[in-house]
Amino acid sequence: MLLSWWKRCRRRKLLAVPFPDDWREVLRQNVVHYSRLTADQRRNLERRVQVFVAEKNWEGCNGVTVTDEMKVTIAAQACLLVLAFEDEHFDNVLSILVYPTAFLAKDVQIGRAGVVIQNQQVRLGEAWYRGPVIVSWEDALAGGRQQQPGRNLVLHEFAHQLDMQNGRELDGTPPLPSGDLAARWADVMEREFQRLRHDCHSYARPLLDCYGTTNRAEFFAVATETFFESPAALSSRHPELYEVLRAYYQQEP
Ligand SMILES: [Zn+2]
Repeated sequence: MLLSWWKRCRRRKLLAVPFPDDWREVLRQNVVHYSRLTADQRRNLERRVQVFVAEKNWEGCNGVTVTDEMKVTIAAQACLLVLAFEDEHFDNVLSILVYPTAFLAKDVQIGRAGVVIQNQQVRLGEAWYRGPVIVSWEDALAGGRQQQPGRNLVLHEFAHQLDMQNGRELDGTPPLPSGDLAARWADVMEREFQRLRHDCHSYARPLLDCYGTTNRAEFFAVATETFFESPAALSSRHPELYEVLRAYYQQEP
């Protein structure tokens, strides 16, 4: 209670400061979505970016010094997801770790008979439950500038954070506002997940990235990327999937 009062008070102070012109220039240069928003939506996004930049711990890794350009570019893409959500600032994400490029992640698993299996994998990003979001700056920037058609690393990682808002489990279902949407969501997501698995195995050329066949959580994150990056194609080729995502995000990208 006290914390939320303190937070609200701090946010009011933050938002009393005008949005810096050089940050607006970063949005124009690095975040293609920004130029497509209405004037009201831009103002809304700018306010969310101000809070997001100020409230997160930003840490550079492997020699990165985190600049305002990096913070604003990453924050704007994350906040784009929740533009229509009231008072949503990803409070569960305390830190953003920024690597220069793809990084090696160590994945430690305890296998049968207590054997520790250590995998090293090249990753572009990671999202942890109540932990940091880790991104490669090279890919966060390319996503913001839409240099990788249909792909967006920051949207992907923060979709996982939305997924985890109803518990640790990544299951491809974020908190949904109504039972009706939850029922449609379960039905449509399952059918579309199976359709993508079929298309990817039969060498058809799916609109969604085949990484979405990994599991239902990755499917939701990949579908979110496509919803914001290729909305027209998604709406014509997967109208039901487009519709449930539109109902959840309350946006027409
Ligand atoms: Zn993922």
